[in-house]
Amino acid sequence: MAEENETAYPVAPTTGSSRKAERQRVASSAKAVRAADRPAPRPARAPRRTAKPLRSLVILTMVGGLVATVALPAYGAWRPTEAEAVTIQQLANDNAQSLVVASDATNSTLNRESYSATTSEQIAKKKAQEAAAARAKELAASVASTTSQFASVDLSMVAPGTGAVRWPLASFTMGEGFGARGGAHMGVDMLIGQGTPIYAAAAGVVRVSQESFGGYGVAVTIDHVINGVKVSTLYGHMTYGSRQVSSGQTVKVGQVIGLVGSTGRSTANHLHFEVMVNGGHVNPISWLNANAG
Ligand SMILES: [Zn+2]
Repeated sequence: MAEENETAYPVAPTTGSSRKAERQRVASSAKAVRAADRPAPRPARAPRRTAKPLRSLVILTMVGGLVATVALPAYGAWRPTEAEAVTIQQLANDNAQSLVVASDATNSTLNRESYSATTSEQIAKKKAQEAAAARAKELAASVASTTSQFASVDLSMVAPGTGAVRWPLASFTMGEGFGARGGAHMGVDMLIGQGTPIYAAAAGVVRVSQESFGGYGVAVTIDHVINGVKVSTLYGHMTYGSRQVSSGQTVKVGQVIGLVGSTGRSTANHLHFEVMVNGGHVNPISWLNANAG
């Protein structure tokens, strides 16, 4: 059947056409005989062939119209005619009310998404709502992280032990020791996770309590008098905003003064702890071993 259609098209009014037509008549009659015992002939295909290009043409026209509409905001000077606007409405959406009429689309900042909104007021309102939602989400996230960071710590707890001197951390892993870096390291690095409570090593008065104390970052120093001896302790690299004491404040032994962090000149969460006895640095571990209980 396919051959019949294909040979039918090129037939042209040439001199040899009568002979060709004769051959075709013979061929088609033979086929007709063969086809006679078949139940039903297929419907004519010619109409479908002519319909296809027509449909393509319609689609092309539609696509062309859409492209012109989408591109419109980029070319603000160009104005579509009223007829085109109506056609665009019909093509894009049955609900004409949800469309921005092309003649209104003069704002150069208007983008494709804006076509789902009705008026410029509604577009502005929608964008404001989205911005507000984003801000609220951001704020909630920051509050949640700050709250959870401190909520997990019981700031009223005290260091374990009963002595007048206590360890500043309940537990830790030893990092760089006293006198490291050619004697430049005047304290010890006690490695432990961020947010771990730091305790006052003894009762005393807070001298320094700063968010930025040089290389120590967030730090606290406390002056003590222990058995008549002047002792000072320093706690460095605390978490920002975690200090629980202020300068001049009296603290009890084992009171929480802040939380472990990695502020200042630090590359890992740890407490940098220094002890001065009568104005001179001593090995904090040795001092704690001798005095803490
Ligand atoms: Zn250190």
